Amino acid sequence: MKIILMGPPGAGKGTQAEVLVSKLSIPHISTGDMFRAAIKNQTSLGLKAKEYMDAGALVPDEVTIGIVEERLGEEDCRNGFLLDGFPRTVAQADALAEILARQGMTLDGVINIQVDQEKLIARLTGRRVCRQCGATYHILFSAPAQEGACDKCGGELYQRSDDSEATARNRMNVYNEQTEPLITYYKSKGVLLDIDGDQPIEAVLADIMSSLGKSL
Ligand SMILES: [Zn+2]
Repeated sequence: MKIILMGPPGAGKGTQAEVLVSKLSIPHISTGDMFRAAIKNQTSLGLKAKEYMDAGALVPDEVTIGIVEERLGEEDCRNGFLLDGFPRTVAQADALAEILARQGMTLDGVINIQVDQEKLIARLTGRRVCRQCGATYHILFSAPAQEGACDKCGGELYQRSDDSEATARNRMNVYNEQTEPLITYYKSKGVLLDIDGDQPIEAVLADIMSSLGKSL
């Protein structure tokens, strides 16, 4: 099973990726892991990527694509893989199509987890942290017994700036701008699988599996 997993921040993509790769017995290929491995193994592309990263520059597409090609050529990808975080642009998607064609592979599906954006904003901004002991809460999923106070030590709860609404909206806008062209691209190729992500984790997983023609 060769799949790409897409979903906005807060949609539970990480959780789904973890369960999917174990159910389907395929490797989880995230861009971050791939770069770290290439750098650690000192491949020529890994070294090139490191040069850009050390200089604080964006790694050029040709390097990223080369690293993806190396990774997909490894033995454990023969029966499939789950790509997470790549491609990010239509140019990368075209490059991926060429890589797969060269290796005699075809994509089985592009999973697009969809959740109402206002609900995502609420999820992304719900975290509260205790000023005294660092305990974390979420006002939707693990609310403290008394609003604004830590259950463990009574300390004041606050919202980190990473969790602010402005940050969440910005992340969402970046995702939308980046992803919309990819969604159109994969829809036109007939491989896009829209999944309702606004359900319990198990139900989302069940929908993904059935859209791939697999039973749980
Ligand atoms: Zn506390």
